[in-house]
Amino acid sequence: MVMLFLTVRIPCLAALVTAGVATPAQPPKTLVKDVAIIGGGASGAYAAVRLRDDYGKSIALVEMQGRLGGMVNTYIDPKTGTPYDFGVETFLDIGNASAFFERFGVERAAVTQANTTTQYIDFNSGHPVNLSLPSSNAQIAAMEKFLEVVKPWTNYLQPGYWNFPVPEDIPEDFLIPYGEFITKYGLEDAIPIIYESTGLGLGNMTQETTMFVLQAFGTYMAEAIVGEVDSYHPATGGNQALYNAIEQGLGDDVLYNSTVLHSSRTDSGVLLTVQNHISGSKTVIHARQLLIAIEPTTTNTAPLDLDTNEKKVLSTFTYTREYSGIVNNSAFVAPISYANMAAGAAPDNYLILPDSSFTNTISYMGGNNLFHVIIVGNNSLDERGAKALLQENFETLLKAGRLGESYEGQQINWVDFSVHGPMHARVSPEDVQSGFFQQLYALQGQRSTWWTGGAFACNFQTTLWEFDETLIPNIIANL
Ligand SMILES: Cc1cc2nc3c(=O)[nH]c(=O)nc-3n(C[C@H](O)[C@H](O)[C@H](O)COP(=O)(O)OP(=O)(O)OC[C@H]3O[C@@H](n4cnc5c(N)ncnc54)[C@H](O)[C@@H]3O)c2cc1C
Repeated sequence: MVMLFLTVRIPCLAALVTAGVATPAQPPKTLVKDVAIIGGGASGAYAAVRLRDDYGKSIALVEMQGRLGGMVNTYIDPKTGTPYDFGVETFLDIGNASAFFERFGVERAAVTQANTTTQYIDFNSGHPVNLSLPSSNAQIAAMEKFLEVVKPWTNYLQPGYWNFPVPEDIPEDFLIPYGEFITKYGLEDAIPIIYESTGLGLGNMTQETTMFVLQAFGTYMAEAIVGEVDSYHPATGGNQALYNAIEQGLGDDVLYNSTVLHSSRTDSGVLLTVQNHISGSKTVIHARQLLIAIEPTTTNTAPLDLDTNEKKVLSTFTYTREYSGIVNNSAFVAPISYANMAAGAAPDNYLILPDSSFTNTISYMGGNNLFHVIIVGNNSLDERGAKALLQENFETLLKAGRLGESYEGQQINWVDFSVHGPMHARVSPEDVQSGFFQQLYALQGQRSTWWTGGAFACNFQTTLWEFDETLIPNIIANL
């Protein structure tokens, strides 16, 4: 009887409380700030620190999750305390990046990865793919040649599109398919590195428009590969350690677990109603300027009272989705990196790549048989679909005898999992040719609103910090 009472009455009481009946509804808290920022990933967190601590502006940062850092994912092994990064891995040493680490007392160290042996397999069939990589010298030589070709265009694409050429001046190479671009300049030997480091995020990058692949792997990445630009991560605690330090610094100026319910944006300021989705409490923020630091997808911008022009411009973007995680099935054998490769790539057709959606790698990362997984999908691959895809690949690999066990109905053991999407915002060559980037950047500053993040800039941690540096003087000038 008691059990029945508890199971019936407690949910009813909880429902009354959340509906605001049992306790009188609290009036929303009101904040008056110079700048409101939506999104506490690389771009939002950096801007918050600079605006508040270096320029003395008051800020409120609205973050959906209970932490800062966005696509940074650090798994801490509960037994050993060892951190494993399965989202962002490295920070390119660009602009103020080192100083930004130093101001939080976060020491930097070169990134070391587990030594792995790569096995190329077609994950659709389970058959091995006998891919023979170019020699290291050939790969570096191709990367240097790549750099020679792309370096003159750096200013058009990085850190953002401020200097993107008017339609008649767009280099014609920007708008051709990437596979054609690579063949034109004889850069095939650079493809394995470009694909494995970042290019895979676009799916089959050879079919994508060149300028968007150059956004994913352009001058800075090539310079990092040939040793002209340094890269690092926090010496201890994984990449989240940097964002934990930022959290401490920003304190109560971050509204965690919160999203915007609705907004009113005008030329003289912005009003946001924000709700904490755990407590249900609401906060009204009056800000003189707004910085939007999330991908401008239809879902993300729904509460942001977009006008007709903003809707038209921002809905032009298409995206891919990326998922990353850690699995620890005993069937995966250390220290192997199982890499998905299209059958036609053997022996050296580097431009033949898997088509979306696909699992890219299941790669040994250390610890107690931990394997890092990356899954790339088109805009319709949701979290369930991504997990189902890996399960399907797992069964194919088991049945084909590629793993350390035979098939007995095993299920993937997820140790951790993260949704990184939508990302790699891009538009068609026709839209670029019609002046899309000029229309996009004309939104900057309109209705007291500024835009940062991957759709507006080169999508790496420190290039976004650099891009923020170009926005901050404009934001301040409008306060
Ligand atoms: C698997 C993977 C590996 C990567 N590795 C690297 C790397 O090694 N080095 C590198 O430089 N870059 C790397 N990147 C790219 C890098 O992560 C991005 O450039 C960067 O995270 C983008 O920062 P951002 O602030 O624009 O967006 P995000 O990092 O996505 O941050 C957005 C933030 O906004 C929050 N948010 C989202 N929607 C809302 C909403 N409606 N309301 C409130 N808050 C919201 C999110 O919770 C998140 O905290 C990697 C990306 C992926 C997917």
